[in-house]
Amino acid sequence: MSENYQVLITGANRGLGLEFTKQYAKDGWRVLACCRVPKQASALQELANTYSNIQIFTLDVADFAQVDALAQQLKDEKIDVLINNAGIYPDSSTHQINTDDWLDAFTVNSISPYKIATAFTPHIAKSSLKKIATLTSKMGSIDDNTSGGSYIYRSSKAAANMVMKSLATDLQPQGISVVILHPGWVQTDMGGSNALIDTKTSVAGMRRVIEYLKLSNTGCFIAYDGQSINW
Ligand code: NDP
Repeated sequence: MSENYQVLITGANRGLGLEFTKQYAKDGWRVLACCRVPKQASALQELANTYSNIQIFTLDVADFAQVDALAQQLKDEKIDVLINNAGIYPDSSTHQINTDDWLDAFTVNSISPYKIATAFTPHIAKSSLKKIATLTSKMGSIDDNTSGGSYIYRSSKAAANMVMKSLATDLQPQGISVVILHPGWVQTDMGGSNALIDTKTSVAGMRRVIEYLKLSNTGCFIAYDGQSINW
């Protein structure tokens, strides 16, 4: 039933991005799997050997010229679901914050989802589904911040929430819906081994949220288990 659907995923070489790639490919979607260095993406290459519906593209999300070039390269394609997954978590637990790291986090976590969403809007507009999902984090929730710290990550994800909220409103006239996702605390390189859930559970949940995304609930901040999160 999903034979003709296409999903574009950033940071597809490990963690949640790799699991998204696996689950969509298994379900018969064509996956445009983007990563910084395909040559080094051995797990993704292996997956693409198993599933011929995975195609790998080079994309450093912080390189906006590369984003534009990929959008141009794929100009004849429709994209049914765009998943802004790539993200970084620079260390900022002390008062010794490196401001260059902070700027990098804003580039990757806050600006690139905007850049990618707008560069690929024409491709998404061709689809019958028309969906954008951006992984931010509960750590970007101001309401949820009772423990402080993580200045860089928290602020970059809070900014991403606001950016996606505005995009949800601005893209609504084109029939494009946007969801802001919290994947849970997940066992990946970023989440660490003590995290509460595995990638399979998180991604299966987020895919359900994406499936139920429509214009009537665009712009919501939702966890992998369907629970709404306060801003
Ligand atoms: P990982 O650290 O395991 O993976 C991060 C992915 O992002 C890698 O594929 C990495 O590629 C990619 N990436 C980083 N920078 C860039 C860049 N400039 N261009 C392209 N790709 C890049 O993280 P997770 O899989 O855990 O996280 C995925 C998303 O979920 C992130 O946005 C994260 O903030 C969010 N999240 C994760 C949580 C968790 O508990 N795991 C909790 C809340 C949110 P490379 O291998 O090249 O570095």
